[in-house]
Amino acid sequence: MDLQFTPEEQAFRDEVRAFLKDKLPARIAAKVKAGQRLTKEDQEEWHAILNERGWLANHWPQEHGGPGWGAVQKFIFDTECALAGGPRIVPFGVNMLGPVLIKYGNEQQKKYWLPRILNGDDWWCQGYSEPGAGSDLASVKTTAVRNGDHYIVNGQKTWTTQGQHANMIFCLVRTNKDAKAQAGISFLLVDMTAPGVELRPIRTLDGDKEVNEVFFTDVKVPVENLVGEENKGWTYAKYLLTYERTGIAGVGFCISALAKLKVIAAKVHKNGKPLSQDPLFAARMARVEIDLENMKTTNLRVIAAVAGGGVPGAESSMLKIRGTEIRQEILSLIRRAMGPYAVPYIDEAQYEGWNEAPVGGIDEAATAAASYFNYRKLSIFGGSNEIQKNIISKMILGL
Ligand SMILES: Cc1cc2nc3c(=O)[nH]c(=O)nc-3n(C[C@H](O)[C@H](O)[C@H](O)COP(=O)(O)OP(=O)(O)OC[C@H]3O[C@@H](n4cnc5c(N)ncnc54)[C@H](O)[C@@H]3O)c2cc1C
Repeated sequence: MDLQFTPEEQAFRDEVRAFLKDKLPARIAAKVKAGQRLTKEDQEEWHAILNERGWLANHWPQEHGGPGWGAVQKFIFDTECALAGGPRIVPFGVNMLGPVLIKYGNEQQKKYWLPRILNGDDWWCQGYSEPGAGSDLASVKTTAVRNGDHYIVNGQKTWTTQGQHANMIFCLVRTNKDAKAQAGISFLLVDMTAPGVELRPIRTLDGDKEVNEVFFTDVKVPVENLVGEENKGWTYAKYLLTYERTGIAGVGFCISALAKLKVIAAKVHKNGKPLSQDPLFAARMARVEIDLENMKTTNLRVIAAVAGGGVPGAESSMLKIRGTEIRQEILSLIRRAMGPYAVPYIDEAQYEGWNEAPVGGIDEAATAAASYFNYRKLSIFGGSNEIQKNIISKMILGL
């Protein structure tokens, strides 16, 4: 496999770099690089900029508004965006629901919902998990009972990321209680502003409130919001998860986090020398860099399979495990590099406008602990890493 970029790919990389230099708002990039929290408006602004250029849904087919990129172009784009401080694309509409509608939605649903995802008319969130259905997702208990031209939805979802911003939620609901667990699930699009939907925030380890509980009491949902066939939702749910897991791996973000780690390790001193020259610390940095190089190749293999018309499949589980382990290791090394200066939790430092003197003179220290704690989630959501190992043992190793 030739891992050098061709002249055409190098020209594409230059095009992406020029675009980012010109269009990525410096204010937003500064927040991303400082590890600060982005507002809904920040994320909408970046989506609109990408959409204007036709680069928002970069893995969608061209007929639905994708740019027609191959695997390497997507890889270059993700990497360059992350290095420049571009926010991640909010995945729920573009990366999760979009591919499901394109594959399983009817013509009317595609025509109505896909342009709305691109234009930011709807903010989507994911209603999969419930208090009794996380790893064992097929145990979902939220019910949808058909009543004429509506379903009546009752139940509870939990851990709903960015639900506080959303006006729409795609849900796994039980439409047949008598069938085998997986055979009684449907995939429903629910209006969060409908009567009977209630949202309650959950405060997480890093002090943020980005996840929520969502309660449904007799919520009326039009039958045209059913995606695909009734009771076939498990198939669509699994298809969506392969895209979610591939996205969570976040190769571009690992690359930019490693670059940040190297800057910090060169700046911080131990025993009169930069930390990057400490044999133990240097060995851990080298180890994670080698792991990242390996993961880049796996990532290219997976996106090449998708670009060739395939789906990510069980390889997305490999990518999810390695990507999240690498990202968590880098964040852990960043925190270790700063030692005690990373300990204080300063809530205000997570927001734009914070201009106090850096803790211990290290710019990155103020948000290091919150980032470290926030990204513990990576090995849990999208299906925990233990569950991904089960999938690999079954689907790839045939055990
Ligand atoms: C920050 C955050 C954001 C999230 N966002 C969303 C969201 O937007 N939408 C959504 O629907 N969900 C979301 N989730 C939920 C997430 O997908 C679940 O937390 C995850 O699937 C694990 O389920 P659980 O929390 O119920 O843990 P459990 O399923 O109770 O698992 C507990 C532990 O047991 C292990 N375990 C369970 N079963 C097995 C097994 N068979 N073999 C080996 N180990 C096993 C797990 O790995 C885990 O360590 C989010 C979670 C977090 C933490």
